[in-house]
Amino acid sequence: MSETTVTADLWCIHLQGPDDLIAAPSKERAEERAAALNVAFDQDRDSVPEDRRHFYPHLNAAAVPWQNTAERHEIDLEENWDEWWPTCQACGRVLDSDRVCRVGGVENHSDDPEMSEDED
Ligand SMILES: [Zn+2]
Repeated sequence: MSETTVTADLWCIHLQGPDDLIAAPSKERAEERAAALNVAFDQDRDSVPEDRRHFYPHLNAAAVPWQNTAERHEIDLEENWDEWWPTCQACGRVLDSDRVCRVGGVENHSDDPEMSEDED
């Protein structure tokens, strides 16, 4: 494989404004998280007094195809995705900012019969 090959099925989130890229595990996850980020960005912006909003950077997130090597994508994914969106070790759900999974009303459950899938 050449180093500049763009792998068709690798996706990331482009943060327009800071111009950051966050490698994503799939197109669906990239779209889902980008949408959630935009909701959060809008809420942040709305919390700034109106006369100061023009100082507030315009942030927008968009799911875009990854433009680098597959190797780079894998590294970035490992380094960043879990930082932004930690997932429950037991059920794989994205955790809230407090990093506590409450599936079935149990905090940080180690196993959940309803969600059990043969995955690591
Ligand atoms: Zn869980």
